[in-house]
Amino acid sequence: MKLLRVILAAALLASLLLPSFASAQEGSSLYVKKVENLPEDFIFGMDISSVLAEEKSGVRYYDFDGKETDLFRLLADSGINTIRVRVWNHPYDKDGNGYGGGNCDIGAATEIGRRATENGMRLLVDFHYSDFWADPGKQMPPLAWKDMAIEEKTEAVYQYTKDCLEQMKAAGVDVCMVQVGNETNQYLCGEKIWFNIQYLMQAGAKATREVYPDALVALHFANPEKADSYLTYARKMEYYQVDYDVFATSYYPYWHGTLENLSQVLSEIASAYGKKVMVMETSYAYTAEDTDFSANTIGDGGGIIKDYPFTPQGQANCLRAITDTVANRTGGAGIGVVYWEGAWITVGGASWEENHEKWEKYGSGWASSYAAAYDPADAGKYYGGSAVDNQALFDAQGHPLESLRVFSLMRTGNEIAPTADALEDVSLICDLNAPLSLPAAVNAVMTDDSRQAIPVSWDFTEEMDRQMHDSGPEKYEIRGLAGGMEAKCFVSMVEYNYLADYSFEENSGAWTFTDLGHTDELKIEDKKSDSLTGTRHAHFWSAARDSVEFTLEQQVKDLPEGNYRFTVSIMGGDGGDTDIYAYVRVNGEIAATAPLTITYYNDWHTASTPAFSAPAGAEVTVGVYVKCQGAGNGAWGKIDDAMLNSVR
Ligand code: CA
Repeated sequence: MKLLRVILAAALLASLLLPSFASAQEGSSLYVKKVENLPEDFIFGMDISSVLAEEKSGVRYYDFDGKETDLFRLLADSGINTIRVRVWNHPYDKDGNGYGGGNCDIGAATEIGRRATENGMRLLVDFHYSDFWADPGKQMPPLAWKDMAIEEKTEAVYQYTKDCLEQMKAAGVDVCMVQVGNETNQYLCGEKIWFNIQYLMQAGAKATREVYPDALVALHFANPEKADSYLTYARKMEYYQVDYDVFATSYYPYWHGTLENLSQVLSEIASAYGKKVMVMETSYAYTAEDTDFSANTIGDGGGIIKDYPFTPQGQANCLRAITDTVANRTGGAGIGVVYWEGAWITVGGASWEENHEKWEKYGSGWASSYAAAYDPADAGKYYGGSAVDNQALFDAQGHPLESLRVFSLMRTGNEIAPTADALEDVSLICDLNAPLSLPAAVNAVMTDDSRQAIPVSWDFTEEMDRQMHDSGPEKYEIRGLAGGMEAKCFVSMVEYNYLADYSFEENSGAWTFTDLGHTDELKIEDKKSDSLTGTRHAHFWSAARDSVEFTLEQQVKDLPEGNYRFTVSIMGGDGGDTDIYAYVRVNGEIAATAPLTITYYNDWHTASTPAFSAPAGAEVTVGVYVKCQGAGNGAWGKIDDAMLNSVR
């Protein structure tokens, strides 16, 4: 009851300031934990550099009531206070065909800035100092500047920045921040050494101070997971006395490390160099599906880190966690979070060809084929549509997702009763000779990011079960239904090894040597060239004759009732007369053995015991007994890859 009153009071207060703000949060199904200590002027930004090209391509945006709306109006009503826009010097070929990515020259950027200002939002200007995309792997200078020496290029950066910002000023654009370069990890505008790069940064900063003295100057880097690189960048800037206010970073959670790391590296830079910090670009997927026939940077698989489900609620929880980190875990230096291209949705055609026509004509894809004139190796080859349509805060038809409300709701909180939002996938490893039992419940990811087990029914027949057991080692995906959502269980049918640390790689203490003679060396050795697999194995050696006698054993924990065989490999030399065998003890009695031998270096011998049965709860130990008379300098050997497999 009290919570409801607070929300209503906040909505009422907001409605006095922004008439449609209230509708953006009343009755939202989005769970949002309030971010504490958010300053009034905390930057909630959105990069919408593609918007003009999108609109020209026929894309329409709608408000939460389903009415067509100006995207800028909707964003302002949804708690976005800053629009970010990239600026390319001349993204056109010699015939005037746009390279795409919104064809963001200063004209487009100024128009975006004008509309932002008109709707009460400020503008964050992102100079790439390139004719097209600049990022850590690509910092090509504009064609017009490509033969310039550093002095001339410095002057060009200064003059260009000044001209651009003056155009914006003349158009009445409210610029709050200017970033000098985009993701400038070690490169900027074709320059590759800090000594030159810093001149360009200084020139951009100088022009900004002159035209917009109240605007902040930002430098923008990527890959915060490489904390040492970040500290180097900040140190270089300090060394060259580069004039800037904000150390900004991209943070794409799939690739860019933990929030703990982000917090640490930004806090360290903020306190050591007295800078403000922010997340300049971020985004998260609401679906793995592509909607415009042009591949996305993120989908299912690909070994990415996926801390939240790909749902609008997952987007919201991710953004909330990032915002909380910037606002509360950077020593008070965090000033904002900008979402990257949250409205770059499909241009709506029913095929690649239909969309391609619009991408070419209006520049609404990430690159057009014309970009070959500037960037033949990448854009000119892989041109296409939006690579982030599944990371938008809008659906494919232009309707806002519930996640767009997160910006407003982070200020007020919307801590409603959690409901199930998605299901966690289940992964199982099953012994080919053991029954497969699928779990009766799966974890639901709740809207508040907690987990709750819910019952599941699997689409799994006896016939499937039989086939999976008969088809050898193989991977399967089994579907089911839980709480009205599709559940997935990934099953690997394997010849399961019941031993711990079977290849001695973990050196975990699972194995025990017992010296029965006077063996000089008995140890787990790390030497790849002497291992059957991996880098470690069990090693023995003695200088004297008649001294090698030992066992190497593992006691098997919780072995299910069944039939098994034990397999192990050995190589060695200078053995003389030997007595070597693998063995199994069940409840103290030898249940099976298999003879082994050593010959010479790298001649591995593998032995498997006959099958033996282990009753339920039996004490089972596997081991190798080695006794060598020795020849010459005495015996030596290596034991590796022990396996305890079930047999039918
Ligand atoms: Ca796409």
